[in-house]
Amino acid sequence: MKIIFASHNQKKAEEIRSILPDGLTLLTLQDLHLKEEIPEDEPTIEGNSAFKAQWVFAHFGLPCFADDTGLEVSALNGAPGVHSARYAGAQRSDQDNMDKLLQALEGQADRSAQFKTVITYCDGDQALQFTGIVKGSIGMQKNGTEGFGYDPLFIPEEVGKTFAQMTLAEKNQYSHRARATAQFLEFLQEKAAL
Ligand code: IMP
Repeated sequence: MKIIFASHNQKKAEEIRSILPDGLTLLTLQDLHLKEEIPEDEPTIEGNSAFKAQWVFAHFGLPCFADDTGLEVSALNGAPGVHSARYAGAQRSDQDNMDKLLQALEGQADRSAQFKTVITYCDGDQALQFTGIVKGSIGMQKNGTEGFGYDPLFIPEEVGKTFAQMTLAEKNQYSHRARATAQFLEFLQEKAAL
């Protein structure tokens, strides 16, 4: 079965491919030569995820799924949340986003946070959502070189190191995306068995 992952992010695709069974061929927007950025202007993670999946289904007419992720920091009332990618501004880098977060948490005793991923599956007949959450905290400085995004700052509960200090296999044991993907996979397997 071919399924489109509505993302240009090869790192994310790699994470998801490492979990999916061999029988499923994952096509990214890069594989489909789509250069256009899909708008991500919805006010919630759920809304962005649904919009992306429906947009890609309307373009390609193949079963597809999209994910949207946000880092929700308790002391910042859930920010950066749905704005995680552009926290330090539209053209800014992961490093800029992490620097802004460290600054925002200066002097804060509560560094608790969670990553939330919402996957939306869309095949024209149905649009379904699967949510994965990992709780943890924001480190005092960046640590590690693996992964992407805020990985050098995020320490999952009871682990004692950041996502960026883990191999992909280790990150998959805890991550928001792996948890959402596991539920999505269960659904796909049930669907294939029908
Ligand atoms: P997106 O909208 O799902 O692409 O993600 C929003 C922001 O969260 C981007 O800045 C990503 O770099 C960041 N992000 C998403 N997933 C992860 C992750 O697994 N680790 C660290 N940062 C992530």
